[in-house]
Amino acid sequence: MLPFTRVTIVGLGLIGSSVARAIRATMPTVCITGHDADADVREAARRLDLADDVTDTPGAAVIDADLVIFCVPVGAIGAAAAAVRDDLPADAIVSDVGSCKAEVARALADALPGVAIVPAHPVAGTEQSGPAAGFATLFHRRWCILTPVEGTPEVAVERVAAFWRRLGADVETMTPDHHDRVLAVTSHLPHLIAYTIVGTASDLEQVTESEVIKYSAGGFRDFTRIAASDPTMWRDVFLTNRTAVLEMLQRFSEDLTALQRAIRVGDGEQLFEHFTRTRAVRRSIVEQGQDDSAPDFGRSAHHRIDAAEEPR
Ligand code: NAP
Repeated sequence: MLPFTRVTIVGLGLIGSSVARAIRATMPTVCITGHDADADVREAARRLDLADDVTDTPGAAVIDADLVIFCVPVGAIGAAAAAVRDDLPADAIVSDVGSCKAEVARALADALPGVAIVPAHPVAGTEQSGPAAGFATLFHRRWCILTPVEGTPEVAVERVAAFWRRLGADVETMTPDHHDRVLAVTSHLPHLIAYTIVGTASDLEQVTESEVIKYSAGGFRDFTRIAASDPTMWRDVFLTNRTAVLEMLQRFSEDLTALQRAIRVGDGEQLFEHFTRTRAVRRSIVEQGQDDSAPDFGRSAHHRIDAAEEPR
């Protein structure tokens, strides 16, 4: 049985359009309605046939939905939810895909009192944005973390979990605060470091820009992929998950200082031990199917492998 039959997606960029494509691929009888604040995106969504209907107003999009998913930047979720309040059916379940959960859960609850809200975060994405960048297999074998708050009906959580499993994801449940601490270290901090390194390299006066590009395969290139991620999305992530990011950044700075000291005093043993430990982390990620072992971070092979997979 389908967990939902009428799904509305608000925000038709990378993630929203991927959800739409994944629904089409895995639950073709589900009726999809879409809305985006940007008229050009709405036009592109119609051209790409992402939904059965793309509405010009948010209210019209939700009028007969049984699931509404907000796929907009985290800083915009509260306003996007408030915009559908008057038209939302009483029994509709509301969810989102935001990369931070505590503040988003609060924003949704404030905007939609009395509504069953099941915040979600599919831990899958690329550095691209916009409706053309999405693809149906984005969530295959990726985690989708649900962060229901106390009092959310268990049946609502179960239906949203079943929905993400149909899209190919593995589902985990945790508290919003725990999610924000985990993602601060696994996603938000790495993005901040990439943004910093790429900024530093492009600021260096003694190295010309052409040399930075020419010799980028030495490691820099892999950071540039992450640092090419959407500026609006990431500005919102850092402002929204401020506390957890600052805590992880403090620990990172202490560890960096320790490595800095090891280099200064010539402590090769400490460096070797550290690099051996980090290599083992990479092995675990490959073993758990969260990346493949192809060189070049596996990026070029990645989509081909995913595209060949059948939905689970
Ligand atoms: P995106 O490609 O930029 O798409 C977001 C879309 O939402 C844009 O078309 C945007 O229009 C529209 N929008 C903004 N405010 C709106 C509003 N109030 N009502 C309706 N539409 C609105 O971004 P994305 O990468 O799909 O990210 C969407 C969400 O997914 C974010 O919360 C992000 O944290 C989360 N997420 C992203 C990734 C990733 O890797 N990208 C992974 C997991 C989760 P404008 O461009 O005109 O503002």
